[in-house]
Amino acid sequence: MERVECVVIGAGVVGLALARQLALAGREVVVLEAEERIGTGISSRNSEVIHAGIYYPAGSLKARLCVAGNRALYAYCAAKGVAHRRCGKLIVATDENQVQALRELRTRAEANGVLDLQWLDAQAAVALEPQLRCAAALLSPSTGIVDSHGLMRALRHEAEDHGATVVLKSPVLGGCATSAGLEIEVGGDEPMALQADRIFNCAGLGAQTVARSFAGIRRQAIPPLHLAKGNYYGLSGPAPCSRLVYPVPAQGGLGVHLTLDLGAQARFGPDVEWVDREDYDVDPRRADAFYDEVRKYWPSLPDDSLQPAYAGIRPKIHGPGEAAPDFLVQREDAHGVPGLVNLFGIESPGLTAALALAAQVADGGRA
Ligand SMILES: Cc1cc2nc3c(=O)[nH]c(=O)nc-3n(C[C@H](O)[C@H](O)[C@H](O)COP(=O)(O)OP(=O)(O)OC[C@H]3O[C@@H](n4cnc5c(N)ncnc54)[C@H](O)[C@@H]3O)c2cc1C
Repeated sequence: MERVECVVIGAGVVGLALARQLALAGREVVVLEAEERIGTGISSRNSEVIHAGIYYPAGSLKARLCVAGNRALYAYCAAKGVAHRRCGKLIVATDENQVQALRELRTRAEANGVLDLQWLDAQAAVALEPQLRCAAALLSPSTGIVDSHGLMRALRHEAEDHGATVVLKSPVLGGCATSAGLEIEVGGDEPMALQADRIFNCAGLGAQTVARSFAGIRRQAIPPLHLAKGNYYGLSGPAPCSRLVYPVPAQGGLGVHLTLDLGAQARFGPDVEWVDREDYDVDPRRADAFYDEVRKYWPSLPDDSLQPAYAGIRPKIHGPGEAAPDFLVQREDAHGVPGLVNLFGIESPGLTAALALAAQVADGGRA
């Protein structure tokens, strides 16, 4: 049976960032990806926003890794020629009742080390974005957008340049700890078994299934998986703003926001739709609710201008109405399988945080 030092399960942005990190540190790495291409999971179905680290509880992994990941990601994109734009974002209080919540967001951001936010009164916000209406806004200059596919390609190439191997169409079916190390069974066109010293489960929406497939794992340690779909609608016609626009956050997500792609095309979303299976169809009727939400900050949104675009699914480890937990990085002490590291609940800001998360996980730190 072939033996490798490290196996990374899943070639999304997190698995690829981790493979790159391990390879740069001189580790022998094989990435096993179930699909026939890299990055077809959560990493290709998101807002592609480089978050600043504003929203998350102080000291949480989400806060720390987002702030560190933001800086690392800009530097990486610049060094590797990955398309990105530091376009900035406005978080808007759409009426006076939300102004206090906006102040609290600024305080939270400062506790996270995000010190570049600028408070704008309504007039100053409209001077920046004339089509906008709000009671007040926070300007985040360090928020931006990135080509997530370009990023994943760059991570893959760098990992491979340092000796990593990415194997596609190779779903991990099960595993166990033996006296010789970890053993995993891989399916697909060319089924095989592999031995490894360390296995990193970065399977996104498949992370719980992969974890459960390890013999002897403490099952009660595996968190539940709740699927929170986010639907996006594209705007026909030119974008009304040159910056991203977010309302004050809503339950389960960041509210129906306006993001821009690198071609300056605007889209709105994602909303939060709790679902019980993976389904990426976008129901045109859900756009109806968007018009009211968006017109709170962009009153002149034309009728019938929103078209179904795409959907992504957040790998939540909490259900509707429950407080959002932190990213969960689990090692042997939590689940009982030596050498196995599970990553659960890597929802937003996982794209932004990927490089920082990879650095800590590869390092053996608690992340
Ligand atoms: C709607 C939405 C909007 C978001 N917006 C943002 C944003 O703007 N900014 C931001 O920072 N973050 C955002 N995020 C979060 C970010 O997209 C994720 O945190 C990140 O992409 C997770 O990457 P991943 O590698 O963990 O998962 P994935 O990209 O899903 O990768 C997991 C991989 O594992 C593979 N896999 C699964 N099972 C197996 C198996 N058994 N064997 C082998 N391979 C397997 C899958 O095929 C997949 O390729 C958003 C998420 C969503 C859903």
